[in-house]
Amino acid sequence: MSFASLGLSAPLLKAVAEQGYDTPSPIQSQAIPAVLEGKDVMAAAQTGTGKTAGFTLPILHRLSQGDRPRAGSQIPVRALILTPTRELAAQVGESVATYGKHLPLKSAVVFGGVKINPQIATLRQGVDILVATPGRLLDLYQQKVVRFDKLEVLVLDEADRMLDMGFIHDIRKILAVLPKQRQNLLFSATFSNDIRNLAKGLVNDPVEISVTPRNAAAATVKQWVHPVDKSRKPALLSHLIQTHQWQQVLVFTRTKHGANRLTKYLEGQGIEAAAIHGNKSQNARTKALADFKSGGVRALIATDIAARGLDIDQLPQVVNFELPNVAEDYVHRIGRTGRAGASGQAVSLVSLDEKKELAGIERLISQRLNSEAVAGFEPTPGGGPKVDENEGRQPRGGQRRGDGGQRRGNGGGRGNSAGGRGNGGGRGGDSRRSEGRGASSGQGGSQDDNRGNRIDSGNRGNRNGDAPAQRRQRSRGGQRRSGGGTPNGNV
Ligand code: AMP
Repeated sequence: MSFASLGLSAPLLKAVAEQGYDTPSPIQSQAIPAVLEGKDVMAAAQTGTGKTAGFTLPILHRLSQGDRPRAGSQIPVRALILTPTRELAAQVGESVATYGKHLPLKSAVVFGGVKINPQIATLRQGVDILVATPGRLLDLYQQKVVRFDKLEVLVLDEADRMLDMGFIHDIRKILAVLPKQRQNLLFSATFSNDIRNLAKGLVNDPVEISVTPRNAAAATVKQWVHPVDKSRKPALLSHLIQTHQWQQVLVFTRTKHGANRLTKYLEGQGIEAAAIHGNKSQNARTKALADFKSGGVRALIATDIAARGLDIDQLPQVVNFELPNVAEDYVHRIGRTGRAGASGQAVSLVSLDEKKELAGIERLISQRLNSEAVAGFEPTPGGGPKVDENEGRQPRGGQRRGDGGQRRGNGGGRGNSAGGRGNGGGRGGDSRRSEGRGASSGQGGSQDDNRGNRIDSGNRGNRNGDAPAQRRQRSRGGQRRSGGGTPNGNV
């Protein structure tokens, strides 16, 4: 099957060819015709399947047909794409700009954690396609900068993560101000009962698409486990990087502090490393990612939320330095490699105290992971010396406050490249640079804007800055806190 046979217009086919895509991925061959027909879609597709093009291409096609409606003197928003994180918003915005570059449509990306004024300026000029995180979008809507009376298509991307992050109330508020008559596209890595409930009031007679078995990892990713004592994990990682000569490895830790500590350790071993997490400034995150992509940094040490939505071409190797507390995060983590059919490897360094997490993951993916001890790093029966995970941490109060910032950091990942098109997350924000391009993305600048941070992280009204999901967890007695930190919070 070819992209041309799906019925996409010539400017889109040209853009797709320029990206080097020959064949539509399974999600694309199913979603594109359905969206072109104007149907609602509910798709179970994890990241790496090509889902972004699966909804972006047909939306661009539809919006470019016929005349653009006007709302007064403004170009009204006709397609709204909601994403859970800034990073994903930036990435989707970049895809919209890339695939739409031969079309006369305008697009913009808005998310918190950056100045709102450039976003206001961009929206005032009018955009056809808006990519947004929920909190900042509501803020802009309340300031009457954006209106939705001509909205034709709504996309909820990574809806499962939006619910995990506690955005359900914001989503409901947004749904309430959209026209009833519209096309709805719901994308989610997993279809939990909560997602099905959300879908009930949202999609109408949807085309259901599932491109990977529920909760399965991409088949192209080779996965295995190295059992090891906790205290020896840093040394084992360094050994693996050096003996296998891994040149580009994305390493996941559970905590920001752990990410910093591991980065220092690897640097001490002569391995160029950088950490990416929510306590880093947007600029530092953007730089770490750019250096990693260009090969200047060999190991990128990331926490779960920070890495959400990272799209790195041909990323060959993912390492779980620690297993995530939430099994679904394992699937998201290893979804960073083996994208769009490329092969990849994911290895987990598992210590005795992570047995429970490993069992949970194996249950979720319905697969036993091969376990291979590395010579010289075989685990000792008692699990080896104890590791003080709290060493060097801030006192409790400080840590809490930090939690608020952790969720905020999901922006600017693709900032450099988006910047060329009119303001990436990591650059100063002049949205006017985006003028004159086709579907250009206009994002805000890079400086922190406390208001935006608070809102975008779903943290309204909580001085600790905790997101609602975290608040819920704490109120349940912190039951998911085992092993050093909240699953989503302590990133
Ligand atoms: P996504 O799942 O949307 O995050 O896309 C994952 C990656 O696959 C991105 O880097 C896309 O550029 C790439 N991609 C999307 N569609 C195709 C295709 N048909 N052929 C090859 N690569 C693709």
